[in-house]
Amino acid sequence: MTNHRNAQNHTHYDVIIIGAGASGLYCALTAGRRGRRVLVLDHANKAGKKILMSGGGRCNFTNYFVEPEHFIGANPHFCKSALSRYPSWEFIGMVESHKIAYHEREHGQLFCDDSAQDILSMLLDECTAVGVQVTLNVQIDHVKTAAQDKDERFQLTTSKKLGKKDIANGTQSSQTRYSCESLVVATGGLSIPTMGASGIGYELAQQFGHTLVPTDASLVPFTFTDKTGELIRALAGISLPVIASNERISFKLPVLFTHRGLSGPAMLQLSNYWHTGETININLLPKIDVTELLLARKKSHPRQLIRTVLAENTDSALPKKLLAALQTHLWEDIKDTELANIKDERLMALGATLNGWQLKPSGTEGYRTAEVTRGGVKTDEVSSKTMQSNLQGGLYFIGEVLDVTGWLGGYNFQWAWASGFVSGEIV
Ligand SMILES: Cc1cc2nc3c(=O)[nH]c(=O)nc-3n(C[C@H](O)[C@H](O)[C@H](O)COP(=O)(O)OP(=O)(O)OC[C@H]3O[C@@H](n4cnc5c(N)ncnc54)[C@H](O)[C@@H]3O)c2cc1C
Repeated sequence: MTNHRNAQNHTHYDVIIIGAGASGLYCALTAGRRGRRVLVLDHANKAGKKILMSGGGRCNFTNYFVEPEHFIGANPHFCKSALSRYPSWEFIGMVESHKIAYHEREHGQLFCDDSAQDILSMLLDECTAVGVQVTLNVQIDHVKTAAQDKDERFQLTTSKKLGKKDIANGTQSSQTRYSCESLVVATGGLSIPTMGASGIGYELAQQFGHTLVPTDASLVPFTFTDKTGELIRALAGISLPVIASNERISFKLPVLFTHRGLSGPAMLQLSNYWHTGETININLLPKIDVTELLLARKKSHPRQLIRTVLAENTDSALPKKLLAALQTHLWEDIKDTELANIKDERLMALGATLNGWQLKPSGTEGYRTAEVTRGGVKTDEVSSKTMQSNLQGGLYFIGEVLDVTGWLGGYNFQWAWASGFVSGEIV
């Protein structure tokens, strides 16, 4: 352990972590347990803001079933080592040791019974217990390397982030310089800028020669501008179980119609696998083959109407309002025509649409509401075992800033804990 020197406005630490979010705090407490002197710097006025707003305030902190398939990135193998060294039960063990009550929801998702604050308090308490210092309201002005001295390999110049009042009062911000042996970039992605997201992690990566995989908002609702958009907006509030898919993946989960477009778990999950300009496919009646049903009814009940068949069908839980809207949109011209008088081809086309509604989103709601940022620091240039940069010794990237994006369901936090842990073991 290096001695702590505190000359005027120049402080030395073994490890400096930029970002007091999920991964940064986990790395800090792990390194602190090893006796490393750790400083966490954050420009926000509060640590772990995203933890607090996660899971609707209850933090979906991990999942019982974590597999590499639940993560996307240009190199799908990158996440394997950290996830296997830090499985979800490790985090669950910590939660239990802090007597935090939690429960399981569908698909193995674990949430706090009370509040996400429990998880943040746990992380901060663990940090305090091992002497980690967390300093907030800090602006990172620049980072440079001093190659001649490994202990002081990185030098950071920071200034106090001034609030509106400070600026109004003409307060000047004094600079503080820090040095450290290991520098950890845990600055997250670009999602929800009002919660402190910034691109500094990507800028630092580029400064040290790293390549970036293009970033995009992900785990995010889709928006629509055409006539479909009007239809969707008119149905705001309706939710139903569907199969949402594209050529890469399919999810059997609920979709939610909103005033802005399509949301709900099915859409958020699919957004991880969607690129601008692509179509998505929604099976509105996943339990039945609509073509088969309509053709069979044409034979057995030739005088029935399409809407009667679809409304009667007990397996199809199409809400009435949605059924009416789909009728207007898809079979208005034959809405009062008996099945006997509708050509088989038309019924087949309608069945195909209801079992595979092809939609072309105009975009997504973007970083304003996205839960994560897809893309980021290219993982081929980072060690999958330690998260250390292959290009600059002592530099580490962890959490969402890396090109590792998890599914909805506690996977992004599990990645933050796991990458924080493996880096914290070595920094
Ligand atoms: C609304 C919402 C709900 C979510 N719910 C869940 C959930 O239930 N389960 C789940 O697994 N995932 C969830 N996520 C995703 C999860 O929050 C993130 O994937 C996770 O927090 C990433 O951890 P991180 O440490 O990489 O980044 P963050 O936790 O985002 O931490 C980054 C830190 O860096 C700081 N920072 C940024 N720029 C600078 C700078 N210039 N200078 C200094 N500090 C800086 C930020 O202030 C922040 O404290 C949710 C996300 C959102 C937005």
